[in-house]
Amino acid sequence: MATRMDEALGRIDYLTRCLKAPRIQENAAKLADLAHQDQWTNLEYLAAVLETEVNAREASGTQLRINAANFPAVKTLADFNFDHQLNADKAHLHRLAAGGWLTQKSNIVLLGPPGTGKTHLGISLGIEACAQGIRVKFDTATGWITRLQTAHQADKLTQELKRINSYQLIVIDEVGYLPFNTEAANLFFQLVTSRYERSSLILTSNLTFSQWGNVFGDQAVAAAMIDRIVHHAEVITLKGTSYRLRHTTIDTLPSTKAENMT
Ligand code: ADP
Ligand code: MG
Repeated sequence: MATRMDEALGRIDYLTRCLKAPRIQENAAKLADLAHQDQWTNLEYLAAVLETEVNAREASGTQLRINAANFPAVKTLADFNFDHQLNADKAHLHRLAAGGWLTQKSNIVLLGPPGTGKTHLGISLGIEACAQGIRVKFDTATGWITRLQTAHQADKLTQELKRINSYQLIVIDEVGYLPFNTEAANLFFQLVTSRYERSSLILTSNLTFSQWGNVFGDQAVAAAMIDRIVHHAEVITLKGTSYRLRHTTIDTLPSTKAENMT
């Protein structure tokens, strides 16, 4: 004959399937034992059981957003060695990780020579945003341009910009590695303008702003773009030698664009 406990477990099994809440089913009995041992009130028990479901859902939501963001690698702030990069202030980066800048539709610009951690920090802040329920998409500047060009050729640029704007945060990595032709510069300008004060971007570049004119082939376009990007932005300029080459003797290296950074 089924005991009252078996009966209750059977009901919980059925009800949690109705609710699509498997973590409640998994934890109900175990937490009931704990509740008994530690003399929780009924309400404390209920809260603990519900928490297991909510925590698991939040974690899987974060993971889904991280997967959807298309980061080239998983790089976290915890992995970042702030002692190696003194131009990135740990407390400042952790404040940014809290996400206030996203609420303000503000931007983050990471500048610096190759290997100084721009992409790493861009990904880390993107991951932090995912954990806060923000929809994020990562791509290189060239990747974003390709997307816009394809849409433009299909006469669907407006729709594509709208679609991109459904991401509250986009990461545009490696602005400046490849120069843009006039059409690409124009499309990039439209991307920046469409997000201005509406949604956020993280942008990385190995060039100083003064060198952007060469990338966009036009000083006026570059200036107008920089104006919109930095109006509400945190600009972090990283310095030093490449982290990738930290165990290599520096005089054996070919010269890099690092010399361009002041
Ligand atoms: P950038 O985008 O500036 O060229 P990356 O962010 O790609 O540089 O960094 C190059 C590699 O070195 C990556 O694997 C990154 O995780 C690592 N890296 C760079 N700076 C640091 C740092 N301060 N602490 C830990 N890893 C770092
Ligand atoms: Mg990079």
